Amino acid sequence: ELILAFESSCDETSVAVVQDGTQILSNIIATQIHSHQRFGGVVPEVASRHHVEQITECTDLALQEAGVTYADLTAVAVTYGPGLVGSLLIGVTAAKTLAFAHGLPLIPVNHMAGHIYAARFVAPLTYPLLALVVSGGHTELVVMRAAGEYEIIGDTRDDAAGEAYDKIGRVLGVPYPAGKTVDEMAHAGHDTFDFPRAMHDSDDLDFSFSGLKSAFINTVHHADQIGETLDRNDLAASFQAAVIDQLVGKTLIALRQHPVAQLVLAGGVAANRGLKAALEAALAREFPETTLLVPPVRLTGDNAAMIGAAAHIELAHQHFADATLNAVPGLNFQHA
Ligand code: ATP
Ligand code: MG
Ligand code: FE
Repeated sequence: ELILAFESSCDETSVAVVQDGTQILSNIIATQIHSHQRFGGVVPEVASRHHVEQITECTDLALQEAGVTYADLTAVAVTYGPGLVGSLLIGVTAAKTLAFAHGLPLIPVNHMAGHIYAARFVAPLTYPLLALVVSGGHTELVVMRAAGEYEIIGDTRDDAAGEAYDKIGRVLGVPYPAGKTVDEMAHAGHDTFDFPRAMHDSDDLDFSFSGLKSAFINTVHHADQIGETLDRNDLAASFQAAVIDQLVGKTLIALRQHPVAQLVLAGGVAANRGLKAALEAALAREFPETTLLVPPVRLTGDNAAMIGAAAHIELAHQHFADATLNAVPGLNFQHA
């Protein structure tokens, strides 16, 4: 079984060929970061234009690198949400066109399901599992009782984790997207600022990062006003420690309520070394029977291989779309 998968929900144009949901034959990723950096974030119109320019070449490269033709394919899969509507539409239109031109079934995929299924390239998934999905737009705890079934048990009340990294990165003068650099700075610094740990005592599973972000910004501005210079690495380390404390704390509460054999860490922030290490240590201490699955860094960010892996499950369930498939920018797991 061969799936040609498309991902264009944000600022990466990606096309992949995935075999049996487990083997990546190709995974072409064209990033647009340099076009957006000078604006400090993704500009939707610019993103759509780049997707249009890149998608044909990415498709050709994906097929070429995989060594397959349309005649070899079983299906075409595409992210149809959540994401930027203009960006999503480029992938959806390309996938629809190719599926119908070549008589292939079309599989609509939820981008967040894709992030979780990136873990499928690490090990076979066993259910029930718990996923901590931390990305540029989402911070969620998701219980999966079976393949393709998602229940959100914890969500952010304000900023997403990646978004918080990008916003405080701006204050530190780090170019967008700031997560990777702030992570590196954090490793060179020490947790010397006492930033707030939101909702640390409550036993609900929701996240909040806006209080932390404000505390961070206030600290930096106050120092500026009195002409004091703060250690940027220590600021990054203190911010990261507060983020990790909250993410790990809530995940442990979730595991007490939903014991599972596998914890999946997914989304762009899953590349964070401190977060991975902290989760691993917490599991070893409290849930030694739970295994942490983290995709390799090239699969934690947006890519089409993860969409191909999630599509494999939808193919088994014969969840196909027709030519009326549309982009759903606010897609959530209830639709999926
Ligand atoms: P969503 O998946 O919610 O639609 P998105 O696709 O834009 O949003 P991803 O591409 O999954 O998000 O992740 C990008 C985010 O990951 C950015 O906010 C970036 O700063 C963050 N990030 C990347 N590497 C790291 C890291 N090492 N530490 C922390 N954050 C990181
Ligand atoms: Mg991105
Ligand atoms: Fe994403």
